[in-house]
Amino acid sequence: MTNRYYDLNSYLRNIFGCRVQKISLDAGLTCPNRDGRISTGGCMYCNSRGSGTGAGSQGLSITEQIMRGKEFLKKRYKAQKFIAYFQSFSNTYGPYEKLKGLYEEALAIDDIVGLSIGTRPDCVDE
Ligand code: SF4
Repeated sequence: MTNRYYDLNSYLRNIFGCRVQKISLDAGLTCPNRDGRISTGGCMYCNSRGSGTGAGSQGLSITEQIMRGKEFLKKRYKAQKFIAYFQSFSNTYGPYEKLKGLYEEALAIDDIVGLSIGTRPDCVDE
């Protein structure tokens, strides 16, 4: 059956000419609901790993996580291009220079064609 809407996978395939897959990343960040700025208990929308892989707390860099993700997703989905998905916790919650470094590290890797950044509105300042 043909989709009655223009889905993201089709859009990305039309732009890049191949399957594009998200790589879930854990940048080792936190969230104001967990670090005590607002509370320490978290909320119902994530677990103690921020609903992510836990790779950040294992000490894996963004580059290492992306290289592993690429290998896996190439085999599993025959993906050729990737979006770096900063998934765990709130990924704009931190000093500007640190965040910029994390995003730029991801964008510098071959075949990374974009970023997806999970966060919350009160963690996006000027
Ligand atoms: S990262 Fe998001 S889901 Fe998790 S505790 Fe913070 S606000 Fe809630």
